[in-house]
Amino acid sequence: MENFENLGLCKALNTSLNKMGFKKPTPIQAQAIPLIIEGRDLLGSASTGTGKTGAFAIPVIDKIISTDDECALIITPTRELAKQVVSVVRDLLGQSSQIKASCLIGGEAISKQLSQLKRKPRIIIGTPGRIYDHLERGSLGLKNVNHLVLDETDRMLDMGFGIQIDQILKFMPQEKQTLMFSATFPKNIITLSKKYLKNPERISVDKENTLSKNIKHEIINTDNSKKYELLIEQLEKREGSILVFAKTKHSTEKIAKNLKKDGIKAGALNGDLRQSKRDKIMRSFREKKIRVLIATDIASRGLDVPHLKHVINYDLPQVAEDYIHRIGRTARAGESGEAICFVSPSEGHLWLNIDMLMNPNAKHQYAPRKNTSSRSRRRKAGSSNGKSFSDKPKRKSNAGSSKKTIRSSDAKPKKRFYAAKKKSKK
Ligand code: AMP
Repeated sequence: MENFENLGLCKALNTSLNKMGFKKPTPIQAQAIPLIIEGRDLLGSASTGTGKTGAFAIPVIDKIISTDDECALIITPTRELAKQVVSVVRDLLGQSSQIKASCLIGGEAISKQLSQLKRKPRIIIGTPGRIYDHLERGSLGLKNVNHLVLDETDRMLDMGFGIQIDQILKFMPQEKQTLMFSATFPKNIITLSKKYLKNPERISVDKENTLSKNIKHEIINTDNSKKYELLIEQLEKREGSILVFAKTKHSTEKIAKNLKKDGIKAGALNGDLRQSKRDKIMRSFREKKIRVLIATDIASRGLDVPHLKHVINYDLPQVAEDYIHRIGRTARAGESGEAICFVSPSEGHLWLNIDMLMNPNAKHQYAPRKNTSSRSRRRKAGSSNGKSFSDKPKRKSNAGSSKKTIRSSDAKPKKRFYAAKKKSKK
């Protein structure tokens, strides 16, 4: 498929695509759009950043524009992703469109959403909790929904939205088109798809659980007490916008605060912040007013910041799948990017899980770590789980099959790195 015109999309949509600079469909769009237009249910997977939003939004909007009454509901796991999808949907509809799209997410004034709903939007995008709130209040009806999109379904289930999705679906007609997208396909997704999809077409761009080939990987073995110093070192030697993933809400705040004290424009993003604050920080990051964003996994799914060059895993995720989503924030839409992982001895097992997920056919083995600091030696001797890890894994793992470097950090903790200092006291 050479370009969008061959797809027979409506004129208004072709005009919007031109304006957005989308000349030809990405591979996932080329596969999904004709099937969705045909009316098929879909179970889709694609590497992050491949144009997945357009893959469902373009054909669904085409149907909505071409009819007087068709409606769509798009459910996403996070508020940020919902906002991003709303923005793509509005761009696709075009400024002069009479068709309204509403965003129903938690953390925002319900009154504003109620007045939006009174204007009878034909496309609703939102997170499960707030959508369900509106259904319970009676301010939202879903009887006329013809198209349901479940975006990042694996994440929604991970976040415990399974029951709410079931409840929301009870408000919808049996007869509808359902499109389910998921980066990974664990058993619970397959079960859900059997329950809700009718004879779905399964499409997949790239092998499951693989990443953009344009990501260069670097693994740095270090100690928890040296991570902050190492972060500074990495920020200094890299250019462009950087997303840093930390384990807890508290640590995102702490690292951001320390970076600011060290003269680096940084902000923290986590689920404890008010929605208005979350929006403000995301806006500053998108507009390059802050260079470094420290986030929890709230930012690991679907976020699209085209100028994001590096993803640093300050702490590894507890769930290996999240790693794929995290580093998929870079190298989007054919760009290149870098993923850096700080791996402390206590995180060796997490790294092993990630490596096994990304390279299922390889031999996975870590040799005992030779560590120079006395603190590490103590930890090694008394290692709680009996595991210790080498500076050089025996097998050079090839995460994502792209270029990868493994090294040890020799960064020394500085006095003023509170986060690191406090941790080391434990
Ligand atoms: P997504 O995976 O939907 O988040 O999209 C990733 C990036 O690809 C976004 O910046 C989109 O604007 C861009 N994109 C999506 N579809 C196309 C297309 N057909 N041509 C060019 N860029 C696209």
